[in-house]
Amino acid sequence: MKIAVLGAGVVGIAAAWWLARDGHEVTVLERHPGPAQGTSYANAGLVSPGDATAWASPDALKTFFKGLYRRDLGIRVRLQADPYFYAWTLRFLRECTTEKMRANTLVKLRMALHSRTCINLMEEETGVAYDQRKRGIVYFFRSQHSLDTGTTNYRFLGENGLPIEIVDRKRLVELEPGLAGAAEKIAGAVYSPIDQTGDSRLFATRLVALAKERFAVDFRFDTVIEGFDVERGRVTAVRTSNGPVAADAFVLSLGPESGLLARAYGIDLPVYPVKGYALTVPLDDPAKGPTMGGADEDRLIGYSRLGDRLRLTSTAEFTGFDRSHRPENFRTMLATGHDLFPGAFDERRAEMWAGLRPMMPNSVPVFGKARFENLYLNTGHGHLGWTMAAGSGQFISDLVAGRKPAVDPTGLLYEG
Ligand SMILES: Cc1cc2nc3c(=O)[nH]c(=O)nc-3n(C[C@H](O)[C@H](O)[C@H](O)COP(=O)(O)OP(=O)(O)OC[C@H]3O[C@@H](n4cnc5c(N)ncnc54)[C@H](O)[C@@H]3O)c2cc1C
Repeated sequence: MKIAVLGAGVVGIAAAWWLARDGHEVTVLERHPGPAQGTSYANAGLVSPGDATAWASPDALKTFFKGLYRRDLGIRVRLQADPYFYAWTLRFLRECTTEKMRANTLVKLRMALHSRTCINLMEEETGVAYDQRKRGIVYFFRSQHSLDTGTTNYRFLGENGLPIEIVDRKRLVELEPGLAGAAEKIAGAVYSPIDQTGDSRLFATRLVALAKERFAVDFRFDTVIEGFDVERGRVTAVRTSNGPVAADAFVLSLGPESGLLARAYGIDLPVYPVKGYALTVPLDDPAKGPTMGGADEDRLIGYSRLGDRLRLTSTAEFTGFDRSHRPENFRTMLATGHDLFPGAFDERRAEMWAGLRPMMPNSVPVFGKARFENLYLNTGHGHLGWTMAAGSGQFISDLVAGRKPAVDPTGLLYEG
């Protein structure tokens, strides 16, 4: 078949790879001049089934409301004129029960574990290098109280197939010598040995080159998607700034913008942008940096080591499609970076960035046919899109081929 993939973020590119590998003729459409210039540009780098806990939870409910008036939290909510924000919020709040959180978490964990297998397979097949590290990730807590309460969600993942180890400070520093300078400030951690890290932009960029070379995938950058041509329940073409692109099937992977296009065609796709900040800084003294990925659970800061660079990220801000950033947005992150890895980097060399997580109210990405016979969704990956991209692409290729999916599709398919 001729297949058009809409969006060249890590999710769209991974889908293009799997579809082309199946023998389809694939075209990828993207408004930016190159791949991974949207949310996939500079995420925390965590390929982390260990982070599969759904955001919508009884705790998030409390934090969400606090975020309305407090500016010092990892979550910030700015009231907006956009009625869609309120519709999304209502749906999010409905997901904030323990029962729903657990159900949503299990679906994400399943896809995240599948995706880990898929990214490793892609790596074996192609030799793609993306500053990957496979030493696990540590999720650590600063106080005994936060350790005692914060490990509950990890234990739930542990009971459902994720190998985890709950470690004290001493064991933490054995696992992660990079935290030796901050050990006194940490009570303990959850160690997820199968979690990995890597640079999603590098992965996406190199996969584009491989997909062109191996499968002649046609990447059309600088191409703005404007709408669909529709005939008798099928999409016949995507309308773009460079003219129409006809295909037999279409895969929608427009990240935070996915809902804008889908809703214009009556598809109920509640993807909302949730802003986060990232900084990337070269390690002046790599020996003082981390050796694996980590998350400071009390400050809600995730980080990874990408080659000899440190990537730090934080914050979930509800501010619409605003991607702007100011130096003060990075203050807590920088202070935490110095606190955890003293003397490792010079903050004057940090590259700052902000991006928008494509968030569904239940934190679960959505796949499969929506409204039109040949339009497939592959979007809404929220805070875990890098983790789930490879498996999502594989899953979409199964759906398009009409094969029995390699991952149980329960909870993943569009039901709008
Ligand atoms: C601060 C932060 C930290 C994160 N950390 C992690 C992490 O550690 N691990 C993890 O798994 N995930 C993480 N994420 C989430 C992850 O980065 C995203 O889920 C993922 O990048 C989404 O990929 P995507 O391809 O769906 O979206 P995008 O990368 O945004 O790609 C969508 C593409 O569609 C294009 N597009 C949109 N509209 C149009 C149009 N009209 N015409 C043409 N092109 C269009 C965009 O330009 C873009 O390139 C993080 C996110 C943030 C913001």
